[in-house]
Amino acid sequence: MTADLARGRLPLRPDLVGLEPYGAPQLDVPHLLNVNENPYAPSPEVVADIAAAVADAAAGLNRYPDRDFEALRADLAAYLHVESGVALATEQVWAANGSNEIMLHVLQAFGGPGRTVLSFAPTYSMYPEYARDTFTGWVAGRREADFGLDADVARTAIAEHAPSVVLLASPNNPTGTALPAETVLAVLDAAAAVPGGCVVVVDEAYGEFRRAGTPSALELLADHPHLAVSRTMSKAFGLAGARVGYLAAAPALVDALRVVRLPYHLSAVTQAVARAALRHAPALMAQVGSLRDERDALVVWLRERGLTVAESDANFVLFGLFDDRHAIWQGLLDRGVLIREVGPDGWLRVSVGTPQDMVAFQDALSEVAGL
Ligand code: PMP
Repeated sequence: MTADLARGRLPLRPDLVGLEPYGAPQLDVPHLLNVNENPYAPSPEVVADIAAAVADAAAGLNRYPDRDFEALRADLAAYLHVESGVALATEQVWAANGSNEIMLHVLQAFGGPGRTVLSFAPTYSMYPEYARDTFTGWVAGRREADFGLDADVARTAIAEHAPSVVLLASPNNPTGTALPAETVLAVLDAAAAVPGGCVVVVDEAYGEFRRAGTPSALELLADHPHLAVSRTMSKAFGLAGARVGYLAAAPALVDALRVVRLPYHLSAVTQAVARAALRHAPALMAQVGSLRDERDALVVWLRERGLTVAESDANFVLFGLFDDRHAIWQGLLDRGVLIREVGPDGWLRVSVGTPQDMVAFQDALSEVAGL
């Protein structure tokens, strides 16, 4: 029986018929610059510490893990305090298998049938999928030509759609745009006026890469019980393979997430790996500094060649504009450089890699685009 025929006999939800799983191509090429990973593998010291922590955890794997992962939450709170200057209690921190799962928990708790999640496009393409998977209505408002968010546009959209959740990626994927505190405050104010309540999630997956002077929304937590700030260890920590995302919010909001999570969702191995990596935060943060510098140099290089480049506070850059962006993408791939064909028509996104990756990208792009 062919797979198609078998599928035809399965009671698949009608709204899922014909859909493909989300994901960028996973190709074996020398320069992987397509999913905003950290190009630096963990150092031998980090690897040794992780291996020792996993060995320790392995000795207890006959038991379920700490369901509330108190030690990890305390370590994450301590890290956020150092990174952003904001002091948080353990009960204000939540974690899951990537910030993807964090967002699913948020929508499981605060979305659902008859409710709406609002975001502003272009933005992270998984957001509508979280909505679909939780039977939450999806509405995409618009960003401006520079990919910023106009506070009046946001206020109007919130008043019109009365969402129970607003998702704001800052820095935004795929554009790199960070939102100023005034914009986030305007959204928080408008959300506070939604009858029935509205949770605002600021997705700071790329928060550590923000430029000096750009504040984290963590600073707004103390005065806004309907705000949640989501982060991940996938990017700055170079731990995408470990699948650890986390969120900071008021204890009552975190308590709601505890209701919808699967029991023991964060394995003992994951908890051990994350805690070991967090012990190395200072060294890893130094690496973030060099990635930021590499990003800024890349923006200058692209602009010097007459290309249009979106302002970036992230570890990637959106650039264009190309009449045939697919041809450029393919030409780069043919030269061993994999980037992402994403964002509005004509634009391409490249992740910041090692200096060697950047040279390979620049050489390939110069050739393919005739720069
Ligand atoms: N949010 C944004 C804006 C992202 O770009 C990504 C990853 N591409 C995620 C969340 C999810 O990251 P993870 O699940 O690895 O934490």
